[in-house]
Amino acid sequence: MTIINHFISGAETAGSGTGTKPVYNPATGAVTAELRLANLADLDATVAAAKKAAASWGDISLAKRTAVLFKFRELVASHVDELAALITAEHGKVLNDAKGEIGRGLEVIEFACGIPQLLKGEYSDQVSTGIDVFSFREPVGVVAGITPFNFPVMVPLWMAPMAIATGNAFILKPSHRVPSAAMLLAKLFQDAGLPDGVFQVLHGDRDVISGLLTHPDVDAISFVGSTPVAKHILEVATAHGKRVQALGGAKNHAIIMPDADLDNAADHLAAAAFGSAGQRCMAISVAVAVGDAADLLVKKVEERALDVKVKNGTDADADMGPVISPESREFIVKTVTEAEQAGAAMVVDGRDLVVPGHEEGFWVGPTVIDHVKTEMSAYQEEIFGPVLVVVRVEDLDEGIRLINANPYGNGTAIFTSSGASARKFQRSVDVGMIGINVPLPVPVAYYSFGGWKASLFGDKHIYGPEGVSFYTRGKVITSRWPESTHASGASYNFPSN
Ligand code: NAD
Repeated sequence: MTIINHFISGAETAGSGTGTKPVYNPATGAVTAELRLANLADLDATVAAAKKAAASWGDISLAKRTAVLFKFRELVASHVDELAALITAEHGKVLNDAKGEIGRGLEVIEFACGIPQLLKGEYSDQVSTGIDVFSFREPVGVVAGITPFNFPVMVPLWMAPMAIATGNAFILKPSHRVPSAAMLLAKLFQDAGLPDGVFQVLHGDRDVISGLLTHPDVDAISFVGSTPVAKHILEVATAHGKRVQALGGAKNHAIIMPDADLDNAADHLAAAAFGSAGQRCMAISVAVAVGDAADLLVKKVEERALDVKVKNGTDADADMGPVISPESREFIVKTVTEAEQAGAAMVVDGRDLVVPGHEEGFWVGPTVIDHVKTEMSAYQEEIFGPVLVVVRVEDLDEGIRLINANPYGNGTAIFTSSGASARKFQRSVDVGMIGINVPLPVPVAYYSFGGWKASLFGDKHIYGPEGVSFYTRGKVITSRWPESTHASGASYNFPSN
């Protein structure tokens, strides 16, 4: 049995914790490794190593920092196949999709390579006679990142390159379901020349997470995961004086107008609902069909859903893999059944899917449910599976009201050929990331990623310019260098110009 260790102070280590957790391959249901869980002594050792490393790394020149990041970028790019294989083995998503998430992570590393430009301060000459004012930003110190199962590489790369480029030490607590890719990232950082202790990986349970949230030497927490946990992280960590960005769950709606190209919309809806088995925080899980579009749209989505090839993600022609766990499968099936019992129409039913040769895997097939009402659990819950619910509305205004009444506000999309409808939509929805004829509007790395309402707690979005701001603190210096040292006498008034 493979044992997965921690990565502390530049070395793989078992730590002193005695607990373990099994790691599964969701396509086969087999246990593939035992993950070691840290105890509080391991946590203290990791934080101490990070604190020590942060002091010197934060002081190192920008030229040397970026040299490490450029090298890291090359190493990640040359290990895409290896990383993707680890993702597919523990998450289940198809290999091409795994490579796609690594590609989005690479974009963030590339953005972080430009850190000298991003950290440039401001300078105002002669604000008062003989006085100049300037500003720069310094690292916050020790940052912890707590990440979800659904993007084992991309989400850690939303955080670590930004935190490290800005001069911090970073501790990653990956999801226990997908720990291996994080360990390879640690090795690649080390091979890129990153000093020991600047990037560490600590696996653990809630006690370790609580330890990170309350530890006096941890300065900031980046969290991505479900909404209840995001809210808890914000509350505990801010109560302990840390800055926090905590990204939560989602229920992303796409409005399909009658004037949309319905074939194009159906292609995108199917891909955005069933890609990665619907386990993306930007997945479209609610299709809001407007007026006359509904019947034809549902027909077209049905055809595509029936066409999705659900297989082990390692199969070359697989479109979709399994869901992450038996519990997840059970929850998805239960929620779909509740919708059916409440009177919704089953268009495509993936509840009983069996994948030959993989009978022990955690499978749910693409599922489409029409005539879903807002009071049904299938509308209210983040199902996080390959389930598309269709809600029918009369017009765009009703669709916008529906979106704005939903507690989540991560992503949304509109499919239309009308610029006026698109513009009204982009200005009216209370959602952080909006697609216009684009189903998964994940911002490129030089913008920042973040939802509104129950999809993000704290005020800073992740990566991009807001990431730089989150991982640094500003200093403003007011300076005078008098030509003569001759004292001019004390003045007891408040200084003014
Ligand atoms: P999760 O909330 O169960 O776990 C996320 C992390 O928090 C893991 O590292 C886990 O170990 C830890 N955790 C879990 N329960 C905890 C608790 N009670 N106290 C402290 N820590 C705890 O999420 P998940 O199931 O791994 O991931 C899926 C969720 O993540 C979905 O809700 C999805 O929408 C969300 N997500 C959001 C974004 C975004 O950008 N907003 C991106 C990816 C995933």
